[in-house]
This record gives sequence, C-alpha cells and structure tokens, in this order.
Amino acid sequence: MLTNLPSTVVVREASLRDGLQSVATIVPIENKLAWLREAYAAGLREIEVGSFVPARLLPQMEGTADVVAEARTLPDLFVSVLVPNLRGAEMAMASGAHMMTLPLSASHAHSLANLRKAPDEVVAEVARIRAARDASGSKTLIEGGVGTAFGCTIQGAVDPAEVVRLVGQLLDAGADRISLADTVGYATPDVVHDLFDQAVRLAGDQFWSAHFHDTRGLGIANVLAAMDVGATRFDACLGGLGGCPHAPGASGNVSTEDLNYLFTSMGISTGLSMEKLLALRQRIADWLPHETLRGVIWQAGLPKIYPFASTTPAHA
Ligand SMILES: [Zn+2]
Repeated sequence: MLTNLPSTVVVREASLRDGLQSVATIVPIENKLAWLREAYAAGLREIEVGSFVPARLLPQMEGTADVVAEARTLPDLFVSVLVPNLRGAEMAMASGAHMMTLPLSASHAHSLANLRKAPDEVVAEVARIRAARDASGSKTLIEGGVGTAFGCTIQGAVDPAEVVRLVGQLLDAGADRISLADTVGYATPDVVHDLFDQAVRLAGDQFWSAHFHDTRGLGIANVLAAMDVGATRFDACLGGLGGCPHAPGASGNVSTEDLNYLFTSMGISTGLSMEKLLALRQRIADWLPHETLRGVIWQAGLPKIYPFASTTPAHA
C-alpha cells in the first residue's frame, strides 16, 4: 500500500498555455474564453492561461491579456501566465495575473536554443523582475520554472546537482515559488523521487508545481514518485495537449482527466468533476480538429467501480 499520500492535491491546468503553444491551430479568443470558463466550471482553481510573448513568435498566445482579464472575474481562481523576460513580466503585472512563471532550462544547450540565454543569465533576469515587481508594488508572484530538469534532446543528461544549484540560485534571486519540469519526457520515477526530494527540501513552502510530459508513458508514474516526496501540485493538460518547440516528439503533458482518475482512485481530493473534464475535452477536440489529443480515460471510459467510493487516503 502506498504511504505518504496527501489528502488533497491541486491540478494546475496548463492547456491554454503549454497546450496551445504547441499546436499550429490558432484558437479564436471567444473559444479560449469558453475553454477557460468550462475548465473553471469543472472545478479547476489554478489555470495557466497563456504567455506574454510577442505575437509574431507565438501567434497562438495572442489575446493573453484578455484571457487574464476574464480569468480574474472568476471567484477563487488562481491565474498564472508564462513570461520569457522582464518585458513579458511587465505585461503580466499590468494584466493582474496572480503569478508569472519564468522558465529556466537546466540544460545549458536547451537554454541557449530555447531562450537564447545561459541558465545563470535567466537567474539574473529573475532578479531584475523581482526588483521591478517590488518597485511597482505589484502583488504578482514570481515562479521560477526549472525545465529540462531530467535531461534534454540537445544535451542529453542534465546533472541533478546543477538542477539543485539553480533552484537555490532562483530562490536567492527573489523567486517566490519554484517548480520542476520534465520538458521533454526524459524523467523516470527513481530520478524524479531523488530530485524532487532535494528540491522540495530546499524550497520548502516555496515549492510549487511538478510538470511532467507523458512522452514515453511515464508521466503518471512520475507524478506518484514526486507525490511520495511531498509534491502536492501538478501541471496537466486536458486531452494530454502540450509540447515544446525545441523538444521534437515531446508532445503531451500528463492528461488532466487521467490524473484526476489516478488521484480519485487513491481517495485524494482534487475538487474536479470528471464528467465536466471529459465534456470539455470533447469540445477541445472540436476546436482543434487537426490536432492529436491524448490520454486514455476518454477512450476506455470510466469503469463500473468508479467513483471509488470506498477508498480513503493512507495518510490524511
Ligand atoms: Zn510542458
């Protein structure tokens, strides 16, 4: 029997950002807003709603300020956005987002290819963002999102000690929250267990989210491994959307509906409605007719033993 289980977890829905940035389809703003509202109606209370990058680079992310504005009208919704630099951070603060995530690649090679900066230059950018945030009086939290934490397609292996060093550097530079991401689907449960253990201990209450892609089928296993050492917040995408422009074949965050199935099977509360998640997944499939959606629950359907009425967490 599994031990060390939390009684509740938070699923941070990332499909409007990680999902949409990796597909060719440009989703019109009215569909993005419907997507947002239905995700909220399904019980999601943390949503990464887009990123503040120039529209010429990522036209899929156009209208992020409008999505944030709509999201801020939904009670108790915690709204995060991705920002690539100080310029994006200024837009995020002006939008009123609760949190802005600055991605940092622990892989030096991936960092240069994706962000055109070395990891330590990204740390310096976090310090500049922190200074600008404090000077402006903005309350938008800064999340340092350490990506390619388990290796990358360009460089191969990434030293876990380098990941831990960067977590410490981000905290020192003024990041309010820290997350770890397996950007390209290289993570395996044993490595996840050890690295999350170190990162969660180092960041303490400032540790935020675990971000896994299911590229090689280990997404759910990695979630369990991270949860076993204290992670209680997980990024996911409806329909298993998601990818990385510099990680060929890395398509697919862990799917929100599959993750909800896992947690509810263990008696861990998510606050999510499986029925509404699956209904929204279908709408997303309609909005993205040329894209491949993933995940397994939608295909197999729910079993007769669902909703697992008798399960209780090992540790409340
Ligand atoms: Zn991702």
